Amino acid sequence: MVDKEDVEREGSHADDILNLRPESYDKSMDIRGTPTHLCPCGSQIWNLKVIFEDFEIATYFLDMECVSCGSVATAPTPVDREAME
Ligand SMILES: [Zn+2]
Repeated sequence: MVDKEDVEREGSHADDILNLRPESYDKSMDIRGTPTHLCPCGSQIWNLKVIFEDFEIATYFLDMECVSCGSVATAPTPVDREAME
């Protein structure tokens, strides 16, 4: 399992981040539907597609893939937070 500390400790080169992907997809699941921050495998790091605007992330696509196990999940959004309050 890869966590944020591992990336901060070892991810000093751009190549390392780009190569951050599962070694195998044998344990990957499709858990899309309920927005989540955390993968069932314990990882909090996701690969997803974003669009920048004025130096900030303006839009992100909701389908994301865990860098550790390859499971696909739904990204959380502020709207989901409002719905839970
Ligand atoms: Zn995972």
